[in-house]
Amino acid sequence: MRLRNKPWARPLIEANPQFITTDPKKYRSEWQKRFKKIAPLFVEIGTGKGQFIIEMAQKHPERNFIGIELQTSVAAVVLKKQLELKLDNLQLICANGSGVSEYFEDGEVAVIYLNFSDPWPKKKQAKRRLTYPTFLEQYKNVLEKKGHLEFKTDNRGLFEYSLKSMNNFGMIFDKISLNLHQSDEAEDNVMTEYEEKFSQRGQVIYKLEAHF
Ligand code: SAM
Repeated sequence: MRLRNKPWARPLIEANPQFITTDPKKYRSEWQKRFKKIAPLFVEIGTGKGQFIIEMAQKHPERNFIGIELQTSVAAVVLKKQLELKLDNLQLICANGSGVSEYFEDGEVAVIYLNFSDPWPKKKQAKRRLTYPTFLEQYKNVLEKKGHLEFKTDNRGLFEYSLKSMNNFGMIFDKISLNLHQSDEAEDNVMTEYEEKFSQRGQVIYKLEAHF
């Protein structure tokens, strides 16, 4: 997702430190203090405009959510929605997910969501894929022992790559769906923006859940 540079984005982020941070290392092991209640932490890396994380936070007040988005202009769009909703179980980070183990203490996170992550199809770009081993290593550290990872995509190449990468890393698959919207998980599924767009075009959605 690419958005045109929004001159208001950075000032809006700086004016609202109660909902968003660009310095997540500061809250390592202390994230629960940023929420009204202590609750298991569910983290999405690459929120886009935030449709998924916002709907999940509304649907699950018994969980705390953190959305991480790299692009300032995109993170500011999520922040705008949060400023209207003021969900007390949603916090935002504008930073690169590649630093996730610097942002969270070992075992601080219950679930990590990766939704429609950029596929980086060229071989030389593989290191940027959010399911590349260097990312998996970090997820392993920050996830609690019973924690897990959920990954959805329409991109068959990225899905196959991720299955191999996770399998080679020794991860255990709990669920694999080759057509999420036709499966028994469909009823509870919260759609992302990309998911809506691609499924309307008739594309199949893949999903996996796995743990270390
Ligand atoms: N998850 C959303 C959805 O399904 O509609 C957005 C998908 S979009 C293809 C991927 C998003 O991930 C973009 O907004 C991009 O800026 C963000 N992103 C990519 N790499 C990232 C990284 N390393 N850390 C944080 N966000 C990242």
